[in-house]
Amino acid sequence: MKIRLYNTLGRELQVFEPLEAGTARMYACGPTVYNYAHIGNLRTYVFEDLLRRTFSYFDYTVEHVMNVTDVGHLTDDGDEGEDKMIKSAREQGKSVWDIANHFSDAFFRDLEKLNIQMPEVVCKATDHIEDMIGLIKRLEERGYTYLAGGNLYFDVAKFEKYGELALLDRAKLQAGARVEVDVNKRNPQDFVLWFTNSKFDQQAMQWDSPWGRGYPGWHIECSAMSMRYLGEQFDIHLGGVDHIPVHHTNEIAQSEAATGKPWVRYWIHGEFLVMTGGKMSKSAGGFITLESLEEMGYHPLDYRYFCLGGHYRTQLQFTEDSLNAARAARHNLLDRVRRLRNEALQNGTSVGTAVGSAENELGDGAQAHLRAFEAAVAEDLNIPKALAELWQSLKDDSVSAQERVELASRMDCILAIGVGTAAEGADEAEASQEDVAEIEALIAERNEARTSRNFARADEIRDDLKERGVVLEDGPEGTRWKRG
Ligand code: AMP
Ligand code: ZN
Repeated sequence: MKIRLYNTLGRELQVFEPLEAGTARMYACGPTVYNYAHIGNLRTYVFEDLLRRTFSYFDYTVEHVMNVTDVGHLTDDGDEGEDKMIKSAREQGKSVWDIANHFSDAFFRDLEKLNIQMPEVVCKATDHIEDMIGLIKRLEERGYTYLAGGNLYFDVAKFEKYGELALLDRAKLQAGARVEVDVNKRNPQDFVLWFTNSKFDQQAMQWDSPWGRGYPGWHIECSAMSMRYLGEQFDIHLGGVDHIPVHHTNEIAQSEAATGKPWVRYWIHGEFLVMTGGKMSKSAGGFITLESLEEMGYHPLDYRYFCLGGHYRTQLQFTEDSLNAARAARHNLLDRVRRLRNEALQNGTSVGTAVGSAENELGDGAQAHLRAFEAAVAEDLNIPKALAELWQSLKDDSVSAQERVELASRMDCILAIGVGTAAEGADEAEASQEDVAEIEALIAERNEARTSRNFARADEIRDDLKERGVVLEDGPEGTRWKRG
């Protein structure tokens, strides 16, 4: 199956052709660990996970590398503002290293809860300072750098293709426009490769280098670490759209300038999660974490399901209502799979055997559903369409219960919303616990609807619950329920 992806470089859909047949090598910009990840960041990691799972599904060997930016001052392009890691350490009375470890652990817990598979390599910036210095030396030898005010800069004027990814018009780039003015720079787009002279007087993380004691600039870590693990040329670079104009533009400039070769073939960017109240950002504070959603009673996979509802190249609006809708839909989906599983067991068929095993041969009807699902996924990762296909196949009575359960398991290898576990019957305890909480919440909502004389909504809830096999009995002591 050909996989087509939208390449930001060139702005078009392209058939994915890896450098080495059967292997997908990809690098994703990872978290900056001076705070918790917010659910916007997590949307991007869910999207990256969907892509890696798609490659695995189509039998590619995946080599996925992700960095962890554990040096606070690498969070900004310029040498301005406050070092966020130091600020966080001071506020919490901890060392910068403790801060980085604490938030890094929290980040990986979030990934696990969201069924995001671990990349093959996770690498920390602080473990790769030597690689960064090596790359900067190559740039220096090839004449792409200059020293000014104690810092070593990359000279964008020397790199012919600068700004190609972001479609920057070099003629129109003017001094000072949208970039902080640094008197040391020859060009406003020039960026620091190595700092020795920082405004951060208490800089805790410093290393020796040919240019003096200091620390690397923001962009160099991704070039150095990706090349270290994936080679000087590789297939895919991932990240959020915010990285196109500066971070990824600069990564390309320094990587290609150092090697003299094209670097990454496909640049794939995920759009933002947005809120009505404005942009979600780590530095602005007041952002939503996965843990806060859990505290509100959501399962982390409800959030994953919510993310699957929007194509990765469109902005996704976050509201409580849409998250509620995602939760209800996911629960219905799991219910349906459990019921089909029970039906198949009653029919005496075996379910829950390994996905794709010979025992689970699919008939023509089921095959057609699977092909439609695969086509959606392979066409620029159209997950909303693929999810709709899962629903359609579960509702298709012409396909046997056993086959429908098998289809759900296979599709869940990419979607990873807990359907596979339900298909194996491995989540009964969790299911019943979650179920009870949700049923009771719906009953409370129905009672409210009745009090406010919204009988249409009250009836709708009763009918939905009936559909799920829950019968309500209204009596003098309130509403009781039982499974019918
Ligand atoms: P950071 O930790 O700030 O470097 O961000 C980690 C990843 O999250 C990057 O790939 C960003 O592009 C991405 N990101 C940041 N904000 C959002 C958002 N609101 N929605 C989706 N992705 C985001
Ligand atoms: Zn990066």
